[in-house]
Amino acid sequence: MGGAGKKDSVLIIGGGTWGCSIALELARNGYGNVTVLDGEDVPSSIAAGNDLNKIMEEGSQSEDDTDVAYAWNRLHDLCTTAWLNDPIYKPHYHRTGYVMAASSDAAYKTLLEDISGHEHEYQKVESTEQFRSTMPKGVLTGDFVGWRGFAKSGGAGWVFARGAIIAAKREAEILGVRFITGQQGLVSELLFSDEAKRGEQKGALKQGSLQGVKSINGTVYHAHTTILANGANADGLLDLKYQLRPTAWTLAHIKMTPSEAGLYKDLPVLFNIEKGFFMEPSAETHELKICDEHPGYINPVYRESPLGKSLVQGQGDGDHEGEKIIIGSKPFPRQQIPLESEERVRAFLQETMPHLAPRPFSFARICWDADTVDRMPLIDWYTSEGNAEGGRLLLAVGGSGHCFKTMPAMGQVVLEFLGGQSG
Ligand SMILES: Cc1cc2nc3c(=O)[nH]c(=O)nc-3n(C[C@H](O)[C@H](O)[C@H](O)COP(=O)(O)OP(=O)(O)OC[C@H]3O[C@@H](n4cnc5c(N)ncnc54)[C@H](O)[C@@H]3O)c2cc1C
Repeated sequence: MGGAGKKDSVLIIGGGTWGCSIALELARNGYGNVTVLDGEDVPSSIAAGNDLNKIMEEGSQSEDDTDVAYAWNRLHDLCTTAWLNDPIYKPHYHRTGYVMAASSDAAYKTLLEDISGHEHEYQKVESTEQFRSTMPKGVLTGDFVGWRGFAKSGGAGWVFARGAIIAAKREAEILGVRFITGQQGLVSELLFSDEAKRGEQKGALKQGSLQGVKSINGTVYHAHTTILANGANADGLLDLKYQLRPTAWTLAHIKMTPSEAGLYKDLPVLFNIEKGFFMEPSAETHELKICDEHPGYINPVYRESPLGKSLVQGQGDGDHEGEKIIIGSKPFPRQQIPLESEERVRAFLQETMPHLAPRPFSFARICWDADTVDRMPLIDWYTSEGNAEGGRLLLAVGGSGHCFKTMPAMGQVVLEFLGGQSG
């Protein structure tokens, strides 16, 4: 096996946000043997990207970028170009503007750092009236006590996330990509060569090859190149040595009447970086989505500590909690959110749109994503050489709660890894 030709087989595990983008870009660039595996029909109910909307801010590269800024700005540059121009993505980008705010001094300092160098693009928003006037009369009825922030009418907005995934999937299929979903597509195991297993024991991961991918019904798939793009669940298939932590954030919907939905159309995104965000309601269902802002939840997986309670952090083997050591986090689907999260959503509404604060939620769910240590995506070869025993494995994971916007860029970056860039 091995090789990088466009006729070689490519298997993508996960037909979510990045999986569909990767499938589309490979097919567009002449890869003729691409298969996507997913445990559910696309878009799957557990995909982080299967959502009404996601915040999108435009960005670009600069010659002054530091090494650290380079990677993010390159992704940002590629995805901005695609959301503005690519016929598959463009219809799903609503460039309605952005109001971002903070309540504490520390968070306001973060905002100032975020917009540093771009101050001229924003207007300061500081009083109740200034906040209210960023949207049509009757939308923002709150008092915004202690809020300070910045607004811009272009250069940002939101994307219809579910729509973009469906569009990318559909086009990929038209171009010949095969989607295998359900039990046949739900991957339960990666089968490594003996050489790779020996390398892993020594801590040297990038040796050997991937012999196959096994789905839960026992089907084994073989490919020259396999791409792991199954989001929060990647950590369950591969020991990524604490580089990836499945983390859950929360979202809730409120049903609006048709006339309210009309009033709320084309709103800019409102994001208080300490409290939460919302954008306009869905044109189809008239549901308004609200996300509360918090560091995220984990579902801890423990190992008993051999040393008992006296353990301290920083020994490189996970976080410690009492006599147990947290060695990971296991995602689980749940169309429900914690009570404290509901309280945060309602407190956020009380400050922004108190007329909606008591309204019941029509839907809520915890939404899992894969968090990395620096919140940058993890895109790299795990085993980069195919051989007689098997193929190579590329990682495309680590959305870290803010990478829907990078969807179109992911396909292009993976294409570069595969050496298939056609320009
Ligand atoms: C509440 C919330 C709000 C967010 N808001 C924003 C925002 O405003 N702006 C923004 O840019 N980003 C946002 N994000 C982040 C963004 O949604 C994610 O970073 C991005 O969608 C991750 O894409 P992905 O392809 O890695 O994972 P997903 O979209 O989750 O796709 C993973 C896919 O893998 C499949 N899968 C899982 N396990 C297996 C398996 N074993 N075998 C086969 N298939 C499998 C799943 O069914 C799914 O289809 C938000 C995330 C959350 C949770």
